Order: sequence, then structure tokens, then C-alpha cells
Amino acid sequence: MRDKKKRLKSNLISKMSALFIGVALLAGCGATGTESANMEETVAVESTATEEATEIITSEEETVFESIEESMEEATNEIAEMQVHFIDVGQGDATLIICDDEAMLIDAGNNTKGTTIQSYMLKQGVEDLKYLVLTHPDADHIGAADVIVTKFNIENIFMSDYTKDNQTYNELIQALDDKSYKWSTPEVGSTYELGSATFTIIAPNKQYSDPNNASIGLLLQNGDNKFLFTGDAEEEAEEDILANGIAIDCDVYKAGHHGSNTSNTKELLETITPAFVVVSCAEDNSYGHPQAEPMNNFRSMGMKLFRTDEQGSIVAISDGTEITWNCAPTESWKAGESTESAKTATPESTAAPETTPAPEPFPAPELTPEPAPEQIPASEPIVDEVVEETVAEQPAQNEYVIGNKNTKAFHRPTCSRLPKEKNQVIFNNRDDAIAAGYHNPCDYCCP
Ligand SMILES: [Zn+2]
Ligand SMILES: [Zn+2]
Repeated sequence: MRDKKKRLKSNLISKMSALFIGVALLAGCGATGTESANMEETVAVESTATEEATEIITSEEETVFESIEESMEEATNEIAEMQVHFIDVGQGDATLIICDDEAMLIDAGNNTKGTTIQSYMLKQGVEDLKYLVLTHPDADHIGAADVIVTKFNIENIFMSDYTKDNQTYNELIQALDDKSYKWSTPEVGSTYELGSATFTIIAPNKQYSDPNNASIGLLLQNGDNKFLFTGDAEEEAEEDILANGIAIDCDVYKAGHHGSNTSNTKELLETITPAFVVVSCAEDNSYGHPQAEPMNNFRSMGMKLFRTDEQGSIVAISDGTEITWNCAPTESWKAGESTESAKTATPESTAAPETTPAPEPFPAPELTPEPAPEQIPASEPIVDEVVEETVAEQPAQNEYVIGNKNTKAFHRPTCSRLPKEKNQVIFNNRDDAIAAGYHNPCDYCCP
């Protein structure tokens, strides 16, 4: 256990940072124009807080100080501040939760997001994870988990019982093996502590043939504030979650499967009745996430919406009673392109390949500066929702790839590890590359 003085200091710091967040909230989301005003206000708030702290320490006798300290400790021992960071990782998920100096990461984006997530965590002062939860083995959830496992000390690792045999999954298992880390699938109904918060496992409720449905789901609670995470669980798994008897009403719902219409059923929404919903996806992603049907339901049910594709990283702060945010909810209910219309819009395979990388996210919020975004692999080909993972692992036939004449490796066109131009050879698709003797898909962009 920490000693009291340290505890008091951290209480004050957390109070000051709560004030800071309040100010940042007023200033809006990543609005660069308000930065200097914001800074001034922050300074003012901080100095007031410091004066208060000094007063406590100097104006009273030691015994009084002790009793103040004690009562503060009692008050804050119960419910500490909890921060929930929905990190902008483009198309994918990565949510960092910090409560009372303990941290948990739920999912770790795709293969290109290792540095983004690592830097983000370090900027929040997170050097160890009490929990790493990898909801399911799709590449947009475990892609950068090998980096996180390698770079951070992790106490508990929870993974879906759905396993895969592909490069992304095997890299993760290798990273775990290298550090002799064991992982397990937590049982539905079991509860774990993260500082003053607790979380209860609500899924998977059985074995599924689809990795999305095998997602670990959990209800995170700090005081009265509840956050629901269901990974990419689709209708079938949502039904099983509803049937398992665990109360899952919540304040904040991280939209299932990036806002896909294969998840977020009306039945689920009517049971959980969140005030806030957060969609984690990339702008203009080829899946059409978030889709119109769930968006319409969120809206008609009066939920306030946050979305990483338009707002960058989103931060919610829970004090056990109230939840505050680093930016205002968005008024944009714009759905992604529907799969059908996206299909129609797909150019013929003979058309020039799409080489523009996905658009950059909005500037990071004031509270949580982000490192320079990494390059995102080429736009995903347009395919049906249900083959998401196949796509992530193996692009469709119409995506061209670039081979390296020397190494016989091949890459997606936007990979940051492309060979020099004179060593490049372009193939219409990965099959052509392999047929020509280019047998090494790049580890980094996973073409
Ligand atoms: Zn996903
Ligand atoms: Zn998935």
C-alpha cells in the first residue's frame, strides 16, 4: 500500500487534472484556435488548486492536517477518478482505461498502430498494464498487440477462446511466448478490480463459429458510472449476452463492431439505454461503418454520439457520479457508405488502383496529445461485412501490390516499408505476386 502523503498528493493531482479536463471540455475538441486561451485558463485553475493545497498544509495544526488527510483519503478511497480513452486507431479498436494508477487496455488496433498506442499510453504515464483484454483475434483488434506485449509489463492477459492460425495471431503468440506470458479466457460473470472500478465479464457465452461473436464483452463500473464493451459481437452473440442474466444497462456504450448493422440490435439498445455512444472506426472506411440503421437508432433513442473517425481520440472521465468528456458530442450522424452503394461505386478492377491513404484524424484532444499518425495501409477493398477478417489478412483480388525485386517481399501500395523505386515491381494482386515467385508478404502491412 502507498503511504498517506503520496496518496494525498495523488488525490490532489487527480482533482487538479479533473479541473483541467473541465477547462479542456469548455474549449471544445482539438480546436487549435482556442489553445492559448485554454492554456491561460488552465494555469489559473492550477494555481488556485495549488493555493488550496498549500492552505490545507500550512494553515492548520498537524493533527488537523492528519484528519483532513484521513477524511480526504476516506472519500477518495471509495471512488477514484477513472479515465476511459477511446484511442483513435483508424479502423479498429483500442481503449485505454486508467483508474487510481492502474491501467487496462481493451484491444490494440491493427498492425500499423503499435507506435501510436504505445506513445499514447506513455503520454498518459502508463508503463504497466494490470489487464490487457483482446476481445477477439481479428487484425483490427490484435494487430498491434504484439508491440504492446513486448513493450509493457502486463499482469493479466485475457483473450477470446477463438484462436486463429495466421501471421497476425502467430506474431502475438510469439510475443507472449517471448515474455513467458500466459493468457486465459475469463468466465462470464467473473469480476475484476481496476483501482476503484470493477469490470464484469459478460461474453462470450458459448463457442461460436465466427470470431466477432466470440468477442469478450465486459461491463466496466466506477461508482454509478457504467461503460459497456462488446467488441465486435454480432446479433447472435448480443442475444446470448441479453439472455445471460447479467444486468448491462450502462451510461456509455462503445458501439458494437464499429457501428455495424450486424451488431447494435434494437433489443440490445433498448435494454442498455446508454446516454452516450462511442463509435470507433476510420473515416471513409470501406465497410461503411458506422451504418445508417444503428446510427438512426442511437439518434432516435436520444443518445449523445462520439466518433473517432471525425473527432479523433475521445476521453471520458468518470468520478463515480458524473461522466465528463474531452469534447462535445458530435452532431454528425453521417453513416458510412452502405456496402451495396460502395459496391456499385467500386471501380472496375482495371481502373487505376486507389493509392490515397486514409485521411488523417482530427487533431488530438488537448488532454491527450497524440504522436504523428502512422501511415494507414491502402484503403480496404470493398467487400461484405462478414468477411472483415479475411480482408484484413488478405486483400481482395483487385488491390495491387508492390514487390521488392531483391527480397521477393511484397507490400501494399501505401506501406511505409516500400523498396526503392528502382527495385519495385508492381503486380495486379497478391496472387500474381506469389505466382511470380514473390513469396513474402510484408509483416508490417500484411498484404
Ligand atoms: Zn473490428
Ligand atoms: Zn472483428
